[in-house]
Amino acid sequence: MEYILVVGAGFMGSGIAQVCAQAGYGVHLMDIKRKVLNKALKEIRWSVEKLYAKGIVKESPQTIVDRIIPKQDLKSAKDVHWVIEAALEIEDLKHKIFTELDRQAPLTTPLASNTSSIPITQIATATQHPERVLGLHFFGPVPLMNLVEVIKGKKTSLEVFEKGVALVRFLGKTPVRVHRDIPCFVMNRIFTAALREAVDLVSQGAVSPEDVDVGMRLGYGWNAGPFEIADNAGLDTCALIGQSMKALGEESLVSSSGLIEQMVKEGRLGRKTGKGFYRYTPEGKRLPSESENKQIDKEVNK
Ligand code: NAD
Repeated sequence: MEYILVVGAGFMGSGIAQVCAQAGYGVHLMDIKRKVLNKALKEIRWSVEKLYAKGIVKESPQTIVDRIIPKQDLKSAKDVHWVIEAALEIEDLKHKIFTELDRQAPLTTPLASNTSSIPITQIATATQHPERVLGLHFFGPVPLMNLVEVIKGKKTSLEVFEKGVALVRFLGKTPVRVHRDIPCFVMNRIFTAALREAVDLVSQGAVSPEDVDVGMRLGYGWNAGPFEIADNAGLDTCALIGQSMKALGEESLVSSSGLIEQMVKEGRLGRKTGKGFYRYTPEGKRLPSESENKQIDKEVNK
């Protein structure tokens, strides 16, 4: 069996670990927090069981979950064929992780980052072997979203880049090759520009988040609106991505209203805390918003 080390077991890391295990890889899933690892394993089991019940996954959920080994350090980097890093979007942190991975992992092991915004070339400077560093930018929730951007840093070898494309296909996803290592890559630049505009319009009182989401679904055929996507991604992660983009000189893509930062301060992180632009049950089911509630009251009192 081939092994993959996934670094970070939050929203993205747990999803990446799941799809790797579903594809038959042995997975070392690493996080510094035991609690996060326990939660990830519980959520992976729940998700695989659901996919199994729908016939999307053919192997027994137990077989798949048994392929995932929780870890709290990076020592297993020396025994793996791939590394995918999905820790917090903080450049210094990623540098420290990549320096350590580069020390531990065999030279034949590619080191991928799932960063949303930081150029791969910058992350690769933390290593002695930038030719084996690439971007694999998954979209969340990973078990359901089929796109992965494969990003070539300035020094990424063509061999490693194409290995990334092949891995994405092996995981059952569709790769998009990004040849120029620009901050935020391609899809995130387009999405964050839309989110910035949407956040600004809501901050100015021009429209409600629900109406923006309905509008983008019905008017432009999006599967989910920008506020629904942001709530799923985690508003803390959105705020970190915004900070990172500003530090990279991409202020124009980020809202300056401070709305998301204010919500993070209030603990409104999106689906994960039960409250963001929308409200959710403890099981993560979306509740009607205040304006939808008013509409329901009106209908009931007719
Ligand atoms: P998250 O907050 O859910 O998870 C991050 C995890 O990193 C946490 O569990 C944290 O404990 C862990 N961590 C912190 N320091 C660590 C260390 N030294 N070693 C190992 N783990 C450590 O965040 P997320 O949404 O999963 O995002 C992770 C990465 O994926 C970020 O780079 C983000 O930009 C990127 N990304 C996020 C999304 C999204 O929709 N949320 C989409 C694409 C890419």
